Amino acid sequence: MGRLIIISNRLPFSIDHEGDQLTLRQSSGGLVSAIKSYIESDSSKNRGFTEKLWAGVADFPQNEWTVVAEKLSGRDFQIIPLFVNKLVYKDYYNGFSNSVLWPLFHYFPNLVEYQAHYYDAYVKVNRAFADKLIPVLQPDDTIWIHDYQLMLLPEMLRTERPDITVGFFLHIPFPSYELFRTLPTECKSSLLKGVLGSDLIGFHTHDYAQHFLQSVKMILGVDSNFHNIQYQDRLIKADLFPISIDYKKFNKACDDPETKAYYREIKNNFEGRKIIFSVDRLDYTKGLMDRLNAFDHFLEQYPEWREKVVFILNIVPSRDDIQAYTERKQQIEQKIGTINGKISTITWQPIIYRYTHLPFTELAALYKAADAALITPLRDGMNLVAKEYVASSSGKRGVLILSELAGAANELNEALLVNPTDIIEVSKAIHRALTMPQEEQQHRITLMQQRLSDYDVIKWVSDFLDQLSNVKAEQQKQQ
Ligand code: UDP
Repeated sequence: MGRLIIISNRLPFSIDHEGDQLTLRQSSGGLVSAIKSYIESDSSKNRGFTEKLWAGVADFPQNEWTVVAEKLSGRDFQIIPLFVNKLVYKDYYNGFSNSVLWPLFHYFPNLVEYQAHYYDAYVKVNRAFADKLIPVLQPDDTIWIHDYQLMLLPEMLRTERPDITVGFFLHIPFPSYELFRTLPTECKSSLLKGVLGSDLIGFHTHDYAQHFLQSVKMILGVDSNFHNIQYQDRLIKADLFPISIDYKKFNKACDDPETKAYYREIKNNFEGRKIIFSVDRLDYTKGLMDRLNAFDHFLEQYPEWREKVVFILNIVPSRDDIQAYTERKQQIEQKIGTINGKISTITWQPIIYRYTHLPFTELAALYKAADAALITPLRDGMNLVAKEYVASSSGKRGVLILSELAGAANELNEALLVNPTDIIEVSKAIHRALTMPQEEQQHRITLMQQRLSDYDVIKWVSDFLDQLSNVKAEQQKQQ
């Protein structure tokens, strides 16, 4: 078995400045946690990769590049940092990735701000990844490219090294053809051809895979047979691999004394009151305003819950240098202020709002303490928070209220599934969650927990890598 090379926009570390010292900190994102859990597992050891490498953009000022490169060398995961000019990075990341692909793929075409120089920068950064990687690639490497920032890269690598093994995984939805086709002609066909440089293309759900295959057919005129595509005399597979979580880590989180202590503190603080919890990045896809409207409606429609419930709403700062994000913060905070101002009493405030990133111990304690989780994105590729909440429930209690437009709804059928824009439906679901009998909670949670523990994140990674090997074997049979 050769080397495993993970390629993502971000490196698995961020670098903090402490005085004039630079320190590395492991990122808390879903992909990093997934790969880390896998690498530490027996599945990875059995596979026996000779080396593990991770390539990503090192997003630091030019005068720090040398120091950062030194910091990154000599780790277990050999890091391949890509240093990119700040302005090019901005157009590639804030521009094409997050002001074109992100809104379009999440069904917000009105927020798309296409500009030709954004796309030029996107091509440039994908090209820079290819130029950095091509000289170091070896024939038996397994390359796994992640997400919408790097859709052109598989083809760029394949053109120079036709025999490589490449998997690509899209962590966000792939939209229906009717939306995808609204991209400029050259751009949309290049994105599809770019991804088709892979041997295996992974999506979270069946629908996303079908949307991709339909776009390939309509735009490139390439047919597929079930999940198989025959393109430029090569077999490619597009299949579904719903990302999962480190089930045990969340399920056993309260064995840790610090987490347990924090859990007790929350329970004592809100004794006699039900706790509803939500945590999301500040992103227009997360449906925060509709959620607040629904909670407002709930308090109007069910006044018996006043003083008996608190909604702990945690919002994580995100992409605050993009206008579509900054405006929303003000609107959301105004709405929270209006609800709290209207209905609070001297001893009770309905919404406890925080704008911060929670460390694992706090997050895990809040999941466990919450009587219900209210997770209502307008669109979400998967939504890991929903899965983490279910995994964290111990004593088999707690109710998940989940948007039917989150990828996770495909697997978490026992949640109370809601249309996130229907505030009447959501407010009824909140009431139903808070009055749900214990046995029903237990029944629903148990079924969901079983599914999550059967297909945890280690399975997700192994499954993808197994399928990638299978496609290569099938390609060889065809030759
Ligand atoms: N998360 C965290 N601290 C927070 C909020 C979220 O560590 O304060 C983590 C959470 O555990 C989850 C991830 O961030 O693993 C969010 O993933 P999700 O798929 O729900 O949403 P995304 O932010 O990727 O759109």
